[in-house]
Amino acid sequence: MPDLSPSERLAKLKALEEWLAWQLDQTRRKIADLEQQQARPVEYKLEQKLRESHPLGATIHLADCTMTQRETRPISPDDARAALSKDRKFFMSCEFCRPDTKLGILD
Ligand SMILES: [Zn+2]
Repeated sequence: MPDLSPSERLAKLKALEEWLAWQLDQTRRKIADLEQQQARPVEYKLEQKLRESHPLGATIHLADCTMTQRETRPISPDDARAALSKDRKFFMSCEFCRPDTKLGILD
């Protein structure tokens, strides 16, 4: 800012300081939101398959998914991850709530 007078420079720097303070506040809010999300473990549920001989396996959902049609039971994130990463023949991921995405499992 070579061509500015000291008072013009001061005014610009004050404006910059205000904007940076706003940015810092926004960033801290985002950090707090994400920390709160991480502190709350995501729960999962297992929906029984249609019938014992059905070719599609049991379906794994996020606990709050509303797309279930049959009986469900709660399962831990570890069990959901193990089922979806090792036993894709027996377990499938709900297409609606995508527990595999939430667990970080890629097809
Ligand atoms: Zn679901």
